[in-house]
Amino acid sequence: MVLAELGGSISRALQQMSNATVIDEKVLNDCLNDITRALLQSDVQFKLVRDMQTNIKHIVNLDDLAAGHNKRRIIQQAVFNELCKILDPGKPSFTPKKGKTSVVMFVGLQGSGKTTTCTKYAYYHQKKGWKPALVCADTFRAGAFDQLKQNATKAKIPFYGSYMESDPVKIAVEGVERFKEENCDLIIVDTSGRHKQETALFEEMRQVSEATKPDLVIFVMDSSIGQAAFDQAQAFKQSVAVGAVIVTKMDGHAKGGGALSAVAATKSPVIFIGTGEHMDEFEVFDVKPFVSRLLG
Ligand code: GDP
Repeated sequence: MVLAELGGSISRALQQMSNATVIDEKVLNDCLNDITRALLQSDVQFKLVRDMQTNIKHIVNLDDLAAGHNKRRIIQQAVFNELCKILDPGKPSFTPKKGKTSVVMFVGLQGSGKTTTCTKYAYYHQKKGWKPALVCADTFRAGAFDQLKQNATKAKIPFYGSYMESDPVKIAVEGVERFKEENCDLIIVDTSGRHKQETALFEEMRQVSEATKPDLVIFVMDSSIGQAAFDQAQAFKQSVAVGAVIVTKMDGHAKGGGALSAVAATKSPVIFIGTGEHMDEFEVFDVKPFVSRLLG
Protein backbone atom coordinates (compact mmCIF):
# COMPACT_ATOMS: atom_id res chain seq x y z
CA MET A 1 0.00 0.00 0.00
CA VAL A 2 1.59 3.28 -1.06
CA LEU A 3 1.42 6.29 1.23
CA ALA A 4 -1.38 7.97 -0.68
CA GLU A 5 -3.45 4.79 -0.38
CA LEU A 6 -2.64 4.57 3.30
CA GLY A 7 -3.92 8.12 3.77
CA GLY A 8 -7.02 7.28 1.76
CA SER A 9 -7.74 4.18 3.85
CA ILE A 10 -7.36 6.05 7.12
CA SER A 11 -9.53 8.89 5.87
CA ARG A 12 -12.19 6.43 4.76
CA ALA A 13 -12.15 4.70 8.14
CA LEU A 14 -12.60 8.07 9.85
CA GLN A 15 -15.34 9.05 7.43
CA GLN A 16 -17.24 5.83 8.04
CA MET A 17 -17.01 6.43 11.76
CA SER A 18 -18.24 9.97 11.23
CA ASN A 19 -21.24 8.76 9.24
CA ALA A 20 -22.47 6.49 12.01
CA THR A 21 -25.58 7.81 13.74
CA VAL A 22 -24.26 6.96 17.18
CA ILE A 23 -20.61 6.55 17.99
CA ASP A 24 -20.39 3.63 20.36
CA GLU A 25 -17.70 1.15 21.28
CA LYS A 26 -18.36 -0.95 18.19
CA VAL A 27 -18.11 1.96 15.77
CA LEU A 28 -14.87 3.11 17.39
CA ASN A 29 -13.42 -0.40 17.34
CA ASP A 30 -14.33 -0.89 13.69
CA CYS A 31 -12.70 2.40 12.82
CA LEU A 32 -9.52 1.60 14.76
CA ASN A 33 -9.35 -1.88 13.26
CA ASP A 34 -9.56 -0.42 9.75
CA ILE A 35 -6.79 2.04 10.55
CA THR A 36 -4.68 -0.72 12.09
CA ARG A 37 -5.08 -2.90 9.02
CA ALA A 38 -4.10 -0.03 6.72
CA LEU A 39 -0.98 0.75 8.76
CA LEU A 40 0.10 -2.88 8.89
CA GLN A 41 -0.40 -3.25 5.15
CA SER A 42 1.88 -0.24 4.75
CA ASP A 43 4.61 -2.02 6.68
CA VAL A 44 4.40 0.02 9.84
CA GLN A 45 5.84 -2.06 12.64
CA PHE A 46 3.30 -4.11 14.56
CA LYS A 47 4.24 -2.76 17.98
CA LEU A 48 3.84 0.85 16.85
CA VAL A 49 0.40 0.11 15.48
CA ARG A 50 -0.68 -1.72 18.61
CA ASP A 51 0.56 1.10 20.85
CA MET A 52 -1.24 3.63 18.71
CA GLN A 53 -4.50 1.73 19.02
CA THR A 54 -4.13 1.44 22.79
CA ASN A 55 -3.33 5.15 23.12
CA ILE A 56 -6.33 6.24 21.08
CA LYS A 57 -8.65 4.04 23.10
CA HIS A 58 -7.21 5.53 26.23
CA ILE A 59 -7.70 9.10 25.02
CA VAL A 60 -11.14 8.48 23.59
CA ASN A 61 -12.86 6.97 26.55
CA LEU A 62 -16.44 6.89 25.29
CA ASP A 63 -17.95 6.21 28.72
CA ASP A 64 -16.33 9.29 30.20
CA LEU A 65 -17.21 11.62 27.36
CA ALA A 66 -20.20 13.61 28.48
CA ALA A 67 -23.06 14.10 26.07
CA GLY A 68 -22.44 17.11 23.90
CA HIS A 69 -18.80 16.28 23.39
CA ASN A 70 -17.97 16.05 19.74
CA LYS A 71 -16.81 12.45 19.71
CA ARG A 72 -16.06 12.51 16.01
CA ARG A 73 -13.68 15.41 16.35
CA ILE A 74 -12.04 13.93 19.41
CA ILE A 75 -11.39 10.65 17.60
CA GLN A 76 -10.13 12.37 14.45
CA GLN A 77 -7.83 14.57 16.47
CA ALA A 78 -6.52 11.58 18.44
CA VAL A 79 -5.71 9.69 15.23
CA PHE A 80 -3.95 12.74 13.81
CA ASN A 81 -1.95 13.26 17.00
CA GLU A 82 -0.94 9.62 17.25
CA LEU A 83 0.29 9.55 13.65
CA CYS A 84 2.29 12.71 14.34
CA LYS A 85 3.67 11.16 17.50
CA ILE A 86 5.00 8.15 15.60
CA LEU A 87 6.84 10.48 13.24
CA ASP A 88 8.05 12.92 15.87
CA PRO A 89 10.68 11.57 18.24
CA GLY A 90 10.22 14.62 20.46
CA LYS A 91 13.60 16.21 19.94
CA PRO A 92 14.88 17.99 16.85
CA SER A 93 18.08 16.84 15.18
CA PHE A 94 21.29 18.82 15.22
CA THR A 95 20.97 21.56 12.60
CA PRO A 96 24.17 22.79 10.94
CA LYS A 97 24.65 26.56 10.91
CA LYS A 98 25.70 28.49 7.85
CA GLY A 99 29.22 29.88 8.19
CA LYS A 100 30.15 27.48 10.99
CA THR A 101 31.88 24.23 10.01
CA SER A 102 29.77 21.09 10.43
CA VAL A 103 30.66 17.54 9.47
CA VAL A 104 27.71 15.41 8.40
CA MET A 105 28.20 11.69 7.86
CA PHE A 106 25.77 9.66 5.76
CA VAL A 107 25.15 5.96 6.47
CA GLY A 108 22.86 3.39 4.89
CA LEU A 109 22.79 0.18 2.92
CA GLN A 110 23.98 0.00 -0.67
CA GLY A 111 21.23 1.04 -3.04
CA SER A 112 19.39 3.08 -0.43
CA GLY A 113 20.16 6.22 -2.39
CA LYS A 114 22.92 7.43 -0.10
CA THR A 115 25.28 8.90 -2.71
CA THR A 116 22.45 10.59 -4.57
CA THR A 117 21.12 11.99 -1.30
CA CYS A 118 24.53 13.35 -0.25
CA THR A 119 24.62 15.45 -3.41
CA LYS A 120 21.01 16.52 -3.02
CA TYR A 121 21.73 17.61 0.55
CA ALA A 122 24.84 19.52 -0.57
CA TYR A 123 23.00 21.13 -3.50
CA TYR A 124 20.06 22.13 -1.31
CA HIS A 125 22.39 24.01 1.03
CA GLN A 126 24.53 25.43 -1.76
CA LYS A 127 21.44 27.08 -3.23
CA LYS A 128 20.92 28.75 0.12
CA GLY A 129 24.40 30.23 0.06
CA TRP A 130 26.34 27.59 1.99
CA LYS A 131 29.79 26.29 1.06
CA PRO A 132 29.28 22.52 1.03
CA ALA A 133 31.85 19.86 0.10
CA LEU A 134 31.62 16.13 -0.55
CA VAL A 135 33.98 13.42 0.66
CA CYS A 136 33.74 9.93 -0.82
CA ALA A 137 34.73 7.47 1.89
CA ASP A 138 33.20 4.55 0.04
CA THR A 139 36.10 2.36 -1.01
CA PHE A 140 34.00 -0.79 -1.09
CA ARG A 141 31.91 -0.25 -4.18
CA ALA A 142 33.78 0.16 -7.43
CA GLY A 143 32.45 3.25 -9.14
CA ALA A 144 31.32 4.99 -5.97
CA PHE A 145 33.94 7.70 -6.31
CA ASP A 146 33.12 8.27 -9.98
CA GLN A 147 29.45 8.58 -9.17
CA LEU A 148 30.04 11.14 -6.44
CA LYS A 149 32.57 12.99 -8.59
CA GLN A 150 30.12 13.17 -11.47
CA ASN A 151 27.29 14.41 -9.24
CA ALA A 152 29.54 16.91 -7.50
CA THR A 153 30.97 18.24 -10.75
CA LYS A 154 27.49 18.72 -12.17
CA ALA A 155 26.48 20.74 -9.13
CA LYS A 156 29.84 22.53 -8.93
CA ILE A 157 30.49 21.26 -5.43
CA PRO A 158 34.07 20.53 -4.32
CA PHE A 159 34.75 16.84 -3.69
CA TYR A 160 37.46 14.61 -2.34
CA GLY A 161 38.20 10.94 -2.90
CA SER A 162 40.76 8.51 -4.23
CA TYR A 163 40.94 5.68 -6.73
CA MET A 164 43.98 4.18 -5.05
CA GLU A 165 43.40 4.43 -1.34
CA SER A 166 41.50 1.51 0.15
CA ASP A 167 41.23 2.76 3.71
CA PRO A 168 37.93 4.64 4.10
CA VAL A 169 38.98 6.11 7.44
CA LYS A 170 42.09 7.67 5.93
CA ILE A 171 40.16 9.24 3.05
CA ALA A 172 37.43 10.52 5.34
CA VAL A 173 39.92 12.17 7.66
CA GLU A 174 41.94 13.69 4.80
CA GLY A 175 38.82 15.00 3.09
CA VAL A 176 37.40 16.53 6.24
CA GLU A 177 40.75 18.16 7.05
CA ARG A 178 41.14 19.60 3.58
CA PHE A 179 37.67 21.12 3.52
CA LYS A 180 38.06 22.52 7.02
CA GLU A 181 41.16 24.32 5.76
CA GLU A 182 39.15 25.60 2.83
CA ASN A 183 36.53 26.98 5.22
CA CYS A 184 33.67 24.89 3.89
CA ASP A 185 30.76 25.09 6.29
CA LEU A 186 29.09 21.79 5.41
CA ILE A 187 31.43 18.82 4.98
CA ILE A 188 29.47 15.79 3.87
CA VAL A 189 31.01 12.35 4.22
CA ASP A 190 29.52 9.63 2.01
CA THR A 191 30.31 6.17 3.37
CA SER A 192 30.13 2.72 1.91
CA GLY A 193 27.21 0.35 2.15
CA ARG A 194 26.69 -3.36 1.69
CA HIS A 195 23.72 -5.22 0.37
CA LYS A 196 23.15 -6.73 3.76
CA GLN A 197 23.75 -5.67 7.31
CA GLU A 198 27.20 -6.99 8.06
CA THR A 199 29.50 -6.73 11.00
CA ALA A 200 32.28 -5.36 8.80
CA LEU A 201 30.10 -2.52 7.59
CA PHE A 202 29.09 -1.47 11.08
CA GLU A 203 32.67 -1.64 12.29
CA GLU A 204 33.74 0.57 9.38
CA MET A 205 30.98 3.08 10.19
CA ARG A 206 32.11 3.15 13.79
CA GLN A 207 35.70 3.83 12.78
CA VAL A 208 34.86 6.56 10.25
CA SER A 209 32.64 8.21 12.81
CA GLU A 210 35.27 8.01 15.53
CA ALA A 211 37.92 9.49 13.24
CA THR A 212 35.86 12.33 11.71
CA LYS A 213 33.72 13.16 14.74
CA PRO A 214 30.64 14.17 12.75
CA ASP A 215 28.25 16.73 14.20
CA LEU A 216 25.41 14.78 12.66
CA VAL A 217 24.99 11.25 11.31
CA ILE A 218 22.15 10.84 8.82
CA PHE A 219 20.68 7.41 8.16
CA VAL A 220 19.44 7.07 4.58
CA MET A 221 16.67 4.59 4.00
CA ASP A 222 14.87 3.42 0.89
CA SER A 223 11.15 3.88 1.53
CA SER A 224 10.38 0.52 -0.03
CA ILE A 225 12.24 -1.68 2.43
CA GLY A 226 9.10 -2.33 4.40
CA GLN A 227 9.12 -4.30 7.61
CA ALA A 228 12.93 -4.60 7.53
CA ALA A 229 13.15 -0.87 8.28
CA PHE A 230 13.02 -1.09 12.03
CA ASP A 231 15.81 -3.64 12.41
CA GLN A 232 17.99 -2.01 9.80
CA ALA A 233 17.69 1.42 11.35
CA GLN A 234 18.30 0.02 14.80
CA ALA A 235 21.42 -1.83 13.64
CA PHE A 236 22.94 1.42 12.33
CA LYS A 237 21.91 3.30 15.44
CA GLN A 238 23.77 0.76 17.56
CA SER A 239 27.05 1.41 15.70
CA VAL A 240 26.93 5.16 15.17
CA ALA A 241 25.03 8.02 16.76
CA VAL A 242 22.33 8.39 14.10
CA GLY A 243 20.70 11.78 14.65
CA ALA A 244 18.41 12.12 11.63
CA VAL A 245 16.77 10.09 8.89
CA ILE A 246 16.29 10.78 5.19
CA VAL A 247 13.79 8.58 3.39
CA THR A 248 14.38 8.16 -0.33
CA LYS A 249 12.28 7.10 -3.29
CA MET A 250 9.06 8.50 -1.89
CA ASP A 251 8.05 9.06 -5.51
CA GLY A 252 7.88 5.35 -6.23
CA HIS A 253 5.41 2.66 -5.29
CA ALA A 254 6.86 2.31 -1.84
CA LYS A 255 4.64 1.49 1.05
CA GLY A 256 6.35 4.18 3.07
CA GLY A 257 5.43 2.84 6.46
CA GLY A 258 9.08 1.98 6.96
CA ALA A 259 9.73 5.66 7.55
CA LEU A 260 7.60 5.53 10.65
CA SER A 261 9.52 2.52 11.88
CA ALA A 262 12.90 4.14 11.21
CA VAL A 263 11.95 7.11 13.34
CA ALA A 264 10.93 4.80 16.15
CA ALA A 265 14.10 2.71 15.88
CA THR A 266 16.54 5.63 15.80
CA LYS A 267 14.50 8.05 17.91
CA SER A 268 15.52 10.58 15.27
CA PRO A 269 13.37 12.74 13.04
CA VAL A 270 12.99 12.45 9.28
CA ILE A 271 14.50 15.72 8.01
CA PHE A 272 14.18 15.36 4.23
CA ILE A 273 12.60 13.02 1.73
CA GLY A 274 13.86 12.10 -1.72
CA THR A 275 11.21 12.29 -4.41
CA GLY A 276 13.12 11.43 -7.58
CA GLU A 277 16.50 10.80 -9.15
CA HIS A 278 17.25 14.45 -9.89
CA MET A 279 19.29 16.73 -7.72
CA ASP A 280 16.39 18.99 -6.83
CA GLU A 281 13.87 16.23 -6.13
CA PHE A 282 14.36 16.66 -2.44
CA GLU A 283 11.97 18.09 0.13
CA VAL A 284 12.18 19.27 3.70
CA PHE A 285 10.10 16.97 5.86
CA ASP A 286 7.64 18.42 8.35
CA VAL A 287 5.51 16.09 10.40
CA LYS A 288 2.20 17.94 10.72
CA PRO A 289 1.78 19.03 7.09
CA PHE A 290 2.85 15.52 6.05
CA VAL A 291 0.21 13.84 8.21
CA SER A 292 -2.42 16.40 7.18
CA ARG A 293 -1.65 15.70 3.55
CA LEU A 294 -1.66 11.98 4.22
CA LEU A 295 -5.14 12.19 5.69
CA GLY A 296 -6.31 14.50 2.90
P1 GDP B 1 23.76 4.14 -2.74
O1 GDP B 1 24.26 2.80 -3.15
O2 GDP B 1 23.02 4.07 -1.45
O3 GDP B 1 24.78 5.22 -2.74
O4 GDP B 1 22.61 4.53 -3.78
P2 GDP B 1 22.62 5.51 -5.05
O5 GDP B 1 22.70 6.92 -4.61
O6 GDP B 1 23.59 5.03 -6.03
O7 GDP B 1 21.12 5.29 -5.56
C1 GDP B 1 20.63 4.04 -6.02
C2 GDP B 1 19.57 4.30 -7.08
O8 GDP B 1 18.45 4.93 -6.50
C3 GDP B 1 20.05 5.23 -8.18
O9 GDP B 1 19.56 4.74 -9.40
C4 GDP B 1 19.39 6.56 -7.83
O10 GDP B 1 19.17 7.37 -8.97
C5 GDP B 1 18.10 6.09 -7.22
N1 GDP B 1 17.52 7.08 -6.27
C6 GDP B 1 18.09 7.68 -5.21
N2 GDP B 1 17.21 8.47 -4.57
C7 GDP B 1 16.04 8.38 -5.25
C8 GDP B 1 14.73 8.97 -5.09
O11 GDP B 1 14.43 9.72 -4.17
N3 GDP B 1 13.79 8.59 -6.01
C9 GDP B 1 14.06 7.74 -7.04
N4 GDP B 1 13.07 7.43 -7.89
N5 GDP B 1 15.26 7.17 -7.21
C10 GDP B 1 16.24 7.49 -6.34
